[in-house]
Amino acid sequence: DELLEYDINEGIKSTLVIAKNEYKYFANVKTDFKNVPNIVANGSKLNQVILNLLINAVHAIKYKNLEKKGLITIKTFSDDDFVICKIKDNGIGISKENLEKIFNPFFTTKPIGIGTGLGLSITHEIVVVQHKGEINVESTLGKGTEFTIKLPKVK
Ligand code: ADP
Ligand code: MG
Repeated sequence: DELLEYDINEGIKSTLVIAKNEYKYFANVKTDFKNVPNIVANGSKLNQVILNLLINAVHAIKYKNLEKKGLITIKTFSDDDFVICKIKDNGIGISKENLEKIFNPFFTTKPIGIGTGLGLSITHEIVVVQHKGEINVESTLGKGTEFTIKLPKVK
């Protein structure tokens, strides 16, 4: 569990290479990378966070049965205190009722064998507990979802 210099733009790029087979038939991925400072982080854990959010976005698009490919947009930028990453999809969205439960371990709306319901609880643990960051979600049922992760800059 080593903490090292981590470049989130590079982390996203390498995660997209790994996940390409998962999304290429269902979604286009658009990236919008700003020049952000490196942070001190556990890089493999943060890449796992990005992969979890990306695969959830792909599933949300798959379940919407769009006639054409869906769209996933990944943005990075920074403010005074945080390096920020937003992952947005135009998939099925999340109901108000479910939105309160998505970070709970074992909460899933996916069929047995597809969903474990652990991705977001692990993601929350990595971002909030292990990196003292924040994770937020905005979603509209039938329209799509945007997750925001904020990771503290080194002072
Ligand atoms: P799993 O993917 O195994 O179901 P997660 O913890 O990753 O578990 O996600 C929990 C639930 O949150 C999902 O089953 C789904 O209902 C909802 N969810 C997560 N991300 C998205 C998204 N991008 N769009 C729609 N629903 C989502
Ligand atoms: Mg998941």
